[in-house]
Amino acid sequence: MDQDDFLFAEDGTLKGAPQPLPERRLPEGPPWRILIVDDDEEVHSVTRYALRKVCFRDRPLELLSAYSAAQAQTMLSAEKDIALVLLDVVMETDDAGLRLVRAIREDLADSAVRIILRTGQPGQAPEERVIADYDVNDYKAKTELTAQKLFTTVIAALRAYDSIVTIEANRRGLRRMIALDDRLRPDMGIDAYAQTMLEQAGPILGANASGLVCVVDDLAGGGGAGGRFRPLAVTGSLAPLMPPAPGSALHDRLEAALAVRRTGVSGRSATLHMPGPDGTIFLALLDCDRPLLPADAEMLGVLTAKFAAGLVNLVLYERLSQANTDLRALTQTLEHRVAERTAALLDANAKLEQLASTDGLTGILNRRCFMELAQAERERAGRYGRTFAVLLLDMDQFKRINDGFGHAAGDMAIRSAASRTAAALRTSDSLARYGGEELVVLLPETDLAAATQVAERVRSAIAAHPVEHEGRFIPLSASIGVAEWRGESESLDKLLDRADQALYLAKQNGRDRVEASALPPT
Ligand code: GH3
Ligand code: MG
Ligand code: MG
Repeated sequence: MDQDDFLFAEDGTLKGAPQPLPERRLPEGPPWRILIVDDDEEVHSVTRYALRKVCFRDRPLELLSAYSAAQAQTMLSAEKDIALVLLDVVMETDDAGLRLVRAIREDLADSAVRIILRTGQPGQAPEERVIADYDVNDYKAKTELTAQKLFTTVIAALRAYDSIVTIEANRRGLRRMIALDDRLRPDMGIDAYAQTMLEQAGPILGANASGLVCVVDDLAGGGGAGGRFRPLAVTGSLAPLMPPAPGSALHDRLEAALAVRRTGVSGRSATLHMPGPDGTIFLALLDCDRPLLPADAEMLGVLTAKFAAGLVNLVLYERLSQANTDLRALTQTLEHRVAERTAALLDANAKLEQLASTDGLTGILNRRCFMELAQAERERAGRYGRTFAVLLLDMDQFKRINDGFGHAAGDMAIRSAASRTAAALRTSDSLARYGGEELVVLLPETDLAAATQVAERVRSAIAAHPVEHEGRFIPLSASIGVAEWRGESESLDKLLDRADQALYLAKQNGRDRVEASALPPT
């Protein structure tokens, strides 16, 4: 019998056994499941025979049989993935087939399965009404079906079913892909990102998948004994193969993927090629539990673009974080240095200050510092209605010391006079070198009588005994003028002037003595 011979006679009954269709390519992948529903056993066998060698998109057919609408409904609710129902109309009732259509679409809510009505009595269920009223995909009078037409009709239906299933799978995948955004964050770290990629790729494809994500460390090749593919994450059956050693099948796969430089599928495997920033390359391998189809390849293309963008963000984010860390460290170093310099500067300032305020020969205050202290004391005394006094001291016959014992002896004599004076004072008093062999003392809260007493104490301390210099003894004495401040109307210079006059008087009166500048009667 020829392919174009009718399977059914004019009255819808079967004609002789049909011939097989030509041999096709060896099938792989899960079969397309087709349910034949007919109360006539012969229809089952002739259909099986007509379709027995058919395969579509490298997948064979699996033919299931039901002999009543009721049995078909039970099978449809129990079996999964039935792609096509070849459905008789008149079975246990005149419209059993039509009722089953309703049950499939409404009760079982299966809108994907394709339904082809094959009726032996077209008058019973007129084509126009049936196509309009029932959600069937094709309507054939058994009398018009040849083996070739059956083949064409079945393939068309399977193609439509495949599209529907693919669209549905893609929609699920895209939904998962959108949900992925909640899981992928730019701060999660590159390893965790790669791990999430692998964990989500399988569900997005609707398959179980093992995977590997790696970064190509050395684009030029080589990479030493460890190879140049540095794994970032690995799952499933690829885990025991880590790290991908040069010469291993896995390493060869990665090399091949790197050479091709694009995302693609082959059999059950997929290769994802993801360019990172600055010429970095990330590669991913996926091994799935089912063959990957062109639709999967499209989905993987979208996924790859998404992952690649995420990886770029991640690398840039990590660089930014590193730059921030470096900047913080640099700031700390600089702050530390500034603190060090500031401390050194303060130290230097303190030394300068001391140098500026002390006299090099004696170590007591210098004249400039004394003037500042005295000025401050004058203001303070004025503000609180207090008094203060000054002593002006000049060493007697000092030229003789210089001339008789040498300049160094003179220097030492000045130092001795300063230290003897300091020892005779209170801590609140201030002693300074006024110039040459002259000293000056500031006595806060001290009136003329008390100041004169202090002056007397100083004078006698200086003259108490000679100082020794290089085995020779040098007698010392000093004359002192005392003056008490006369109040706000008197300037510091004027006060010192009066002390100087008193000192002059002491010299006049024979030296080694104290003279006070008398206060005017109040
Ligand atoms: P008198 O004050 O008792 O009238 O006699 P004098 O010899 O001390 O006279 P005058 O005060 O005028 O001379 C002070 C001398 O002290 C003059 C100067 O050569 C000397 N002299 C001043 N400063 C220093 C110093 O730092 N070291 C030494 N060795 N001598 C100094
Ligand atoms: Mg003098
Ligand atoms: Mg003198």
